Amino acid sequence: MTQSPNRSIRQILHVDMDAFFVSVEELENPSLKGEPVIVGADPDGRGVVAAASYEARKFGVHSAMPIRTAKKLCPHAIFLRGHHEKYREYSDKIGQIFSEFTPVVEMVSIDEAYLDLTGCERLHGSPLHGADKLIRTVKDRTGLNCSVGLSTSHLVSKIASDQAKPHGLLFVLPGYEAKFLAPLPIRRLPGIGKVTEPELLSRGISSIGDLARAGPEKLKEWFGKYGEWLYTKSQGLDIEAYEYSEEPKSISHETTYDTDTDDVEELERTLSYLSQLVGRRLRDHRLFARTVGLKLRYADFRTLTRDVTLAEPTHLDSVIFENALRLFEKTWNRKQKIRLLGVRTSNLEKGVFQRGLLEAPQKEKLERLAQTADQLRNRFGFDAVKLARSLESDKKK
Ligand SMILES: [Mg+2]
Repeated sequence: MTQSPNRSIRQILHVDMDAFFVSVEELENPSLKGEPVIVGADPDGRGVVAAASYEARKFGVHSAMPIRTAKKLCPHAIFLRGHHEKYREYSDKIGQIFSEFTPVVEMVSIDEAYLDLTGCERLHGSPLHGADKLIRTVKDRTGLNCSVGLSTSHLVSKIASDQAKPHGLLFVLPGYEAKFLAPLPIRRLPGIGKVTEPELLSRGISSIGDLARAGPEKLKEWFGKYGEWLYTKSQGLDIEAYEYSEEPKSISHETTYDTDTDDVEELERTLSYLSQLVGRRLRDHRLFARTVGLKLRYADFRTLTRDVTLAEPTHLDSVIFENALRLFEKTWNRKQKIRLLGVRTSNLEKGVFQRGLLEAPQKEKLERLAQTADQLRNRFGFDAVKLARSLESDKKK
């Protein structure tokens, strides 16, 4: 073995901005600081909450909640419609900072990314030091707070950054992944939803530790292949998309309005929300979609579907939304009220490498490295990318 043992330990960092939309609003208008602020739909309409400040969350308000419920829970909140252009600008700034830390950046939403720091010790010192530096750099250059989870897997880092909120850093030491997860409720594992949770609860499994204790054989007996994955996840290990033998053929979400509507903003917000739900499920499965579709049902039940094929497959909410919105604008006749909207993705592909946002001074070099990683991954699969990084760190010796 010529490699040092450290090199083979993956260091995956998950960064998530704290109350991102609200924090950007606060930067623009500091008098909002410390107030219960809710960004989203018209509080008297039927839209949803896009983001809530920590102050508002104390009243039980959370994102994706119907805005009218939020108004009932927290009537004194400051309701804002939001500035999506601004959020996009800040998202680009953050993405740029991320790409200065490692070429292997996977932006998974407007305010969230995985950074693979494996082999970056020579740049940042220990991964913990790198994570700390990242939090400070983001604060210095944008004024925004983020939280970071650091571990050997995407799964554990994602959960760790959530536990670290707000403005925290949680490092799960290699070897302690399962111990860290054990006390947490099963719903914290991605892929456990409304169907699986009650089934597990009825079998006496309520924590991730219960899953681990049940063991792979029992779980396989109960749930087949899915049971094996559950066990793997309970150990804090990633399941890559290519390991799923029965991945979905399409992922979609739709919603029917209580009252038919032709309120453009309301309809756009719905599309945005549906796009987020679809994006999240794609990412849970670590899948990318090549086709984005729209379903539109008029008040008279006439139903139209349209889709578009993308040049590059995506799992990003923003890309899904932009395409769904474009289809919507082309499809809706604007004379008739709408009863139902749906967003659908299909032509799903397994783990495509995301190049992230590379605007850094070393852009060219990073891009070349990312392309090399892309090519290697295309030719040889995921392990080849680790090889690319090892080569890079060897060069810096
Ligand atoms: Mg966030």
